[in-house]
Amino acid sequence: MIFRTRFAPSPTGPLHLGHAFSAMLAHDLATSEHGQFLLRIEDIDQSRSRPHWEDQIYDDLQWLGLNWPEPVMRQCERMAVYNKALDDLWARGLLYPCTCNRKDIAAAASAPQEGAPLHGPDGIIYPGTCRDKRRGTLRPKDIPLRLDMAAAGRFLTGSDQPNGKVGEFYEAGTGPNGETGTITFSLSELTDTIGDVVLSRRDMGTSYHLSVVLDDAEQGITHVVRGQDLFEATRIHVVLQVLLGLPTPQYLHHRLIRDDTGKRLAKRDDARAILKYRAEGASPADIRATVGL
Ligand code: GLU
Ligand code: ZN
Repeated sequence: MIFRTRFAPSPTGPLHLGHAFSAMLAHDLATSEHGQFLLRIEDIDQSRSRPHWEDQIYDDLQWLGLNWPEPVMRQCERMAVYNKALDDLWARGLLYPCTCNRKDIAAAASAPQEGAPLHGPDGIIYPGTCRDKRRGTLRPKDIPLRLDMAAAGRFLTGSDQPNGKVGEFYEAGTGPNGETGTITFSLSELTDTIGDVVLSRRDMGTSYHLSVVLDDAEQGITHVVRGQDLFEATRIHVVLQVLLGLPTPQYLHHRLIRDDTGKRLAKRDDARAILKYRAEGASPADIRATVGL
């Protein structure tokens, strides 16, 4: 089996040191394993993606000394694939419509009897408002959901799964709490620990979780190299792989590059943009040294 990994940035802002670390680490691993490094442009969020940021990604990565085969996969060209998988999940009763907005969710999750709202990979864990509304009325497959663009499609996690069923993946790096090696988790716990995440967003029809799983499979990725901030989301990805009949790659979650105050770098941290380092005369070797590679 050939080692194949990828770097999957969103063209919504400049690449910063954290992106450079992730991309170079993945590229280095592919080189040492005599494997392949692929690039994927994660631009499902068309309201925030910009062509000039996509061009800047290519330019920065080339400058860092990385190369990848063409053509590059771009998510905006794969909407039909995402829709087909969503149709399949709707038809199997694994999605349900949700009309809650952020405010509704925050209010329901912090109702006095609920205690402090718990957070999952997508923010506050969904308190299940629309799931409960649905219970005992319609069978999921009776609801003509895909026609209703006013509703998001939420994943019916865990609690409808038989107890004791487990998901599993191999962590070749480390999770935020030192998790490593074979990671197993109970499917029936996901409702409380991850929540019914949105797989079909109102504004874009799909979601990060769904597209990343379909794209990794399409690109034949054997090793997903990415930041520890996505460790929790991996459980959702593994469950989706099983449901959609896709292979589960190995995962290598890496440390996050932080600013001087210990905060993880975000897109808005333009001070750490590769663009800026380049303008100031830094070399790719300087970037490597700065991120500890
Ligand atoms: N597009 C995601 C990001 O910019 C990365 C997704 C992944 O590596 O799974 O953080
Ligand atoms: Zn809802």
